[in-house]
Amino acid sequence: MKEKPLLVMKFGGTSVGNSEAMRKVKAIVEDVLSQGWMPVVVLSAMSGVTDDLLRSTEMAKNRRYDQVLQTAGALTTRHYQVVDELIPETERKVFVKQQIDQLISMFAEYCRAIDIIGEATPRVLDAIAGIGEMLCVRIFAEYLNAHQVSARAMDATKLIVTDHAYQGAHPIREKTERKVKEALLPILQSKIVPVVTGFIAATEDGTTTTLGRGGSDYSAALLGAYLPASEVWIWTDVDGVMTADPRIVPDATTIDVLTFREIGELAYYGAKVVHPKTMQPLIDAGILIRVKNTFNPSHPGTLLTIENEKQTNGEIKAVTSIKGQSLITIEGRGMLGVPGVAARAFGAVASTGTSVPLITQASSEQSICFAVPQKSVETVLRSLNDAFARELATKDIDRIWATDEVVIVTIVGAAMRSTPGIAGRIFGKLGLNGINVIAIAQGSSEVSISLVIDSADEQRAVRAIHELIVPKTEMVS
Ligand code: ASP
Ligand code: MG
Repeated sequence: MKEKPLLVMKFGGTSVGNSEAMRKVKAIVEDVLSQGWMPVVVLSAMSGVTDDLLRSTEMAKNRRYDQVLQTAGALTTRHYQVVDELIPETERKVFVKQQIDQLISMFAEYCRAIDIIGEATPRVLDAIAGIGEMLCVRIFAEYLNAHQVSARAMDATKLIVTDHAYQGAHPIREKTERKVKEALLPILQSKIVPVVTGFIAATEDGTTTTLGRGGSDYSAALLGAYLPASEVWIWTDVDGVMTADPRIVPDATTIDVLTFREIGELAYYGAKVVHPKTMQPLIDAGILIRVKNTFNPSHPGTLLTIENEKQTNGEIKAVTSIKGQSLITIEGRGMLGVPGVAARAFGAVASTGTSVPLITQASSEQSICFAVPQKSVETVLRSLNDAFARELATKDIDRIWATDEVVIVTIVGAAMRSTPGIAGRIFGKLGLNGINVIAIAQGSSEVSISLVIDSADEQRAVRAIHELIVPKTEMVS
């Protein structure tokens, strides 16, 4: 008999946030099984649980172990409730509750250690943060088993091997690939659905690590790439990646197909839908990703692919904005042809721990201009003034200054940058709406243009540019 194609499906925190949501997840699992797929299910912690766990470590550090115990109680109640609502009265149910008790006691003990020592190392933070996923998979696997879907809860500490970079560990490819194949393939061959924790992994010597906040998408990608699976589906609580933020543009629609490079350029906005690290292992393995809505499963969602043959060059796919930025300009005639100014400038910015979302420099070399988050402006200006104290004194640099709050608007679409006329249409739209463009930058991967505008113009600019997106043919529902 032909082997069934493998499908890794990851469900985020809201998709497993209560028993109602978990019922929908079970229905989805049953549905893909009936379609002939063999699924591997990757779960996040129930929504808010990772935050609760990490907040408790702060409480412990502040010597408020009483608050930790309160949280432990609340977490037990919340997970018990789901068990009571989903799992029939059997020995297995008693067993799941025992497992919940054990995990929550482990959590309380780690916090007690923090309370005694008065500090939390990254290592213990990871051990605590991953408990939410461990709770979730045990409940969900048992729920499937209780309904004639053979399933097995698995901790990814046994599958994904990482370095010791706690709170954002890096997987070690060969070791992970071997473990994933060895542990998962036999289970899948026995027609048992593995229900695997997202987010967590372990070092070679078995210490728990995490892949960073929101890392469950990445877990799914790693399993998908190394099994390998035919597809990876990320189930979330929105229909997919949208053409714009629907709070700004009410008629924003879901994007059918987006390339990995395009979603990369969506920066913060794209990252809210899929964790940025998710793409790499799947690009290497040539596996596509679908983003789908647990609460609207019949919607096709967004397909993320390496290249899109149907891609019309120059088509605008999405427009997004990042608020709360400020533009810093370093200007002076003495900068012309002097090497190292940019290196020193960005060194000074980096020393403040600030990241720079946009940079522009005109060829006259008389100014360098870049954006930083508004809240970091003062620190960054201080650091730059120190770094260039000599040049400022000799007037090689005339001044270093920051604008009021600005917004970066990014317009994404493959090959848009090299398509004549697109920039013209964008600037035409903005001109018609009386919106002034303060600076322009182009994404390095040829798929985006970013504009800096006054924050007061954000909504009008995003709406005006969104009008340039060709509406897809109305879908018949
Ligand atoms: N539960 C983890 C977090 O909240 C990982 C994830 O959900 O992706 O960051
Ligand atoms: Mg997420």
